[in-house]
Amino acid sequence: MSGLVVIGASYAGIQAVLSARDAGYCETISVISDETWLPYQRPPLSKEFLLGRQNEAALTLRNSAFFTSRKIDLLLGIRATEIDRDAQRVLLSDRATLTFGKLLIATGSCARRLSAPGADLDGVCYLRSMDDAIELRSRLQEAAEIVIVGGGFIGLEVAASASQLGKRVTLIESGPRLLMRAVSPIVSEFLLAMHRKHGVDVRLGENLVSIEGRNGKVVSVNCGQTCRIGADLVVVGIGGLANSRIAEAAQLLCRDGIVVDDCAQTSDPRIYAAGDCTIHDNVFAEGWLRLESVQHAQDQGKAAGLAIAGRSSPYVSVPRFWSDQYASKLQIAGISAGFDAHAVRGSIEEGKFSLFYYKGGRLVAVDSLDRSGDQMAARKLLAGRLTPSPEQVADPSFDFRSLMGLASETNAS
Ligand SMILES: Cc1cc2nc3c(=O)[nH]c(=O)nc-3n(C[C@H](O)[C@H](O)[C@H](O)COP(=O)(O)OP(=O)(O)OC[C@H]3O[C@@H](n4cnc5c(N)ncnc54)[C@H](O)[C@@H]3O)c2cc1C
Repeated sequence: MSGLVVIGASYAGIQAVLSARDAGYCETISVISDETWLPYQRPPLSKEFLLGRQNEAALTLRNSAFFTSRKIDLLLGIRATEIDRDAQRVLLSDRATLTFGKLLIATGSCARRLSAPGADLDGVCYLRSMDDAIELRSRLQEAAEIVIVGGGFIGLEVAASASQLGKRVTLIESGPRLLMRAVSPIVSEFLLAMHRKHGVDVRLGENLVSIEGRNGKVVSVNCGQTCRIGADLVVVGIGGLANSRIAEAAQLLCRDGIVVDDCAQTSDPRIYAAGDCTIHDNVFAEGWLRLESVQHAQDQGKAAGLAIAGRSSPYVSVPRFWSDQYASKLQIAGISAGFDAHAVRGSIEEGKFSLFYYKGGRLVAVDSLDRSGDQMAARKLLAGRLTPSPEQVADPSFDFRSLMGLASETNAS
């Protein structure tokens, strides 16, 4: 049995097939997507696309001619419904089957659904796909009062877009601060002030109890006895879940995602998985990690593609993420969870700063607001396990390249 079948045509799936072809893989390749769009960029959906600055066509990652030229059969609007490992075939929603020599699962993640009363009312929206974004963009035009549930990346980016469109925006977050799982309290505080400055009514420690409706449509969000917020649109951004059901049903090892090794191989050596749907033992997190980021999907997709082509190259990239809100760019390198000390570079007051996080005296992560140069240095420092002192970080004249030079000299000697 030969040929590669890929389930999911986004960053991980597409990067994998391109890397496999570049590495000389010459068997047949079929890529299945349950979406009808050509593979597209997802991050702008909550930003430029909602603002009306980019349209559907501008988001296309690769056009049909490209897939034809690389001899990649792209099947759009078809869902993989089952993996039959014994027969080495994938069952499809149109009742067809595809046999495989190697299989890649790149099914991504989906938005966690709200379970509160009223969650199914007309006007309660989620944002994961192009179709979701088209619907949300059109509803935003009509809406005046928007409530956003969740102070994570999606909630904050939609809040920024909606407030720039002149809407009255309230954001409720059950935790004590914004982006609690991703950034430190200092960055949370900065983002809180930024959103409030732009007129977003951010309410922390506020739990949604129910969504009230009239004639089947949302009219308000109820956060308990004393708090009812008027809303004609509710956007829910309460996290993502790995699309791993098809792998679980095929009895591949899963644990909050499909378990893969550093070459993206699952518990079945013929089957690989990459991107948001996976969990892997991450050297920078010192433990199991499920990452939802473009960089991770592409890097792990590349590792899968190379392994499938018989040119294994382990995935060891520094975790990275970015988020655009208003005119500010937040960039994150490394994993700051559990840090015990930090140093600041730049000016928090001016909104251009980086926080360098340490754990046990070692640099573990860097968050930057509009300091891309620091991020470039951070990636190299983290990848090379190099730790600048807090004094060096705080000194604007200190050049991180001197540490990198020293490291290469030390390694060479
Ligand atoms: C609105 C939004 C904004 C974002 N912003 C950023 C950002 O600023 N920076 C950043 O780094 N990351 C951002 N992300 C996260 C980033 O987009 C994801 O990490 C990335 O798309 C993951 O790529 P992937 O290939 O693993 O999966 P996905 O992009 O989720 O693609 C998986 C594909 O598989 C399809 N699929 C699933 N099951 C099946 C099946 N059974 N059969 C066929 N097809 C199937 C899905 O429909 C989907 O098309 C954002 C995400 C969203 C939703």
